[in-house]
Amino acid sequence: MKFGVLALQGDFREHISALNHLGIAADEIRSVAELDSIDALIIPGGESTTISLLAKSTGLDKAILQKIKSGMYVYGSCAGMILLASEILDGRLDQIKFSGLDITVRRNGFGRQVDSFEKELTTNLGEHFVGIFIRAPLVQDVGSGVDVLASLETSYGPTPVWVRQNRVMATSFHPELTKNSLVHQYFVDLVMGKIS
Ligand code: GLN
Repeated sequence: MKFGVLALQGDFREHISALNHLGIAADEIRSVAELDSIDALIIPGGESTTISLLAKSTGLDKAILQKIKSGMYVYGSCAGMILLASEILDGRLDQIKFSGLDITVRRNGFGRQVDSFEKELTTNLGEHFVGIFIRAPLVQDVGSGVDVLASLETSYGPTPVWVRQNRVMATSFHPELTKNSLVHQYFVDLVMGKIS
């Protein structure tokens, strides 16, 4: 299975390093031809509106949508989660919605006073994880087909921060900025068929 990281904007290099650390090679994806050669894509953190504009100008918007529909594995962190959502609140009207995950997210939903924070998370896999949140999307609603792998206690109540629906997965935090490989290992295992 071949991995790629969408390299239009954002912290794609950190995702490539995280995969390399697990012994997985990953291509930088900037064109439809490069996308065609991979089985699993990571959409990095960055700015979802900028990634949207660049994806539209390269035709990657339609190509990614098509590949998700035909079963490509995808993981999005932060901005990547926003792009994968089926409903975006406080987004730009023209920004992409790949709708790979039946979730409603609010961009920058944790509010200005907590633009960035770190918090210890308990995952449903029984492991702890320090999540780095940077102007993170707040997951406000999840559909019945979505598994919540980790959530965070907030003033809004328990908020999902790691979700998965079949082959599509997202985190509102940035595991690529930590040394903990739990999330990337989970994605690799999913792509390799080690977890169902
Ligand atoms: N707030 C950003 C957006 O709307 C996401 C921030 C991030 O990826 N760290 O895309």
